Amino acid sequence: MTSGMRTIAARAHAKVNLHLGVGELRPDGYHDLVTVFQSLDLSDTVTLEIAPDTDWVMQGTIVSGLSVSGLDAAAVPRDDSNLAWRAVDALVEYYRRHHNLEDSNRVHLSIHKGIPTAGGMAGGSADAAAALVAAHAFLSERFPKLRAAVLLDLAADLGSDVPFTLQGGTMLGTGRGEQLTPLLSRGTYYWALVFFKEGLSTPVVFRELDSLREQGRVPEPRMDTEGLSKALLTGNPREVARHLHNDLEAPARQLRPDVERMRRAGLEAGALMAMVSGSGPTVAFLCGSELHARDVLDDLLADGAYSGTVAHGPAKGAHLIS
Ligand code: ATP
Repeated sequence: MTSGMRTIAARAHAKVNLHLGVGELRPDGYHDLVTVFQSLDLSDTVTLEIAPDTDWVMQGTIVSGLSVSGLDAAAVPRDDSNLAWRAVDALVEYYRRHHNLEDSNRVHLSIHKGIPTAGGMAGGSADAAAALVAAHAFLSERFPKLRAAVLLDLAADLGSDVPFTLQGGTMLGTGRGEQLTPLLSRGTYYWALVFFKEGLSTPVVFRELDSLREQGRVPEPRMDTEGLSKALLTGNPREVARHLHNDLEAPARQLRPDVERMRRAGLEAGALMAMVSGSGPTVAFLCGSELHARDVLDDLLADGAYSGTVAHGPAKGAHLIS
């Protein structure tokens, strides 16, 4: 960072899907989803480094570059395909169109990753949400603050999981996962998370599900979350464990046999329940307490072949940290 440069940083959290029901393939290429998201304390940080007032941009992107550090940093794009970069561009465009933004300082983005990339934990989406929050704080110094609904619309255009990572907590997601309704949830849930060196591409996992369905090799979609909603009211992880479900688990297991081996190992190590997180390959083990989660994780990581962490949820949405 050059001297005189100001920074604004925001943090956003990973998610697990406690329930992920995948319905029909829609004409727009997305699937109808019924999902229950829980945000976890595992997070990424996005920092805007704002160039001095001598460096103005009138059109095009205001982002001069992007750097990445932390977990899986090498797998994260550093160009305008990065979701955090696209989030800043989208917000600037909105201010140009609706609030006569004519010039802006140039900004550099730096992302610190704690969330695995292509792990089914919404890492890219979290970065987009954090970038929206940081860029909104910056632009609303000179222009009006946007309503939450406007930010949520921008988030939904960036990706199906971005509205949830913006909001956090425990939410029911419908549509392609972007239409959110808060759910009541009591207590704190502890997870042992096991990461895989090689990620899984979300579209590939959905295509595998479609092909397993064509062959009649998977059960019907599960779109009912009533049992889970009731279990979340008890605050009892044993109740919640009985209602975890993910329709993407079968295709993820099909594509990656090591996922199935890890699931079994975690159950043998005493986890209450094992579940692929989102489109995988991260495997999430629900445990009864933080200590229990540490024991399970120690067991699973003992031979050094995998990495992972203990996390708890629900956590909050994307927020400023400076
Ligand atoms: P989800 O759970 O939302 O399906 P995921 O956690 O499986 O997503 P991401 O970590 O969001 O996957 O990354 C998916 C792909 O998106 C990556 O392989 C990468 O090419 C691209 N990508 C774009 N921006 C980012 C970012 N800021 N961090 C990580 N990956 C990004």
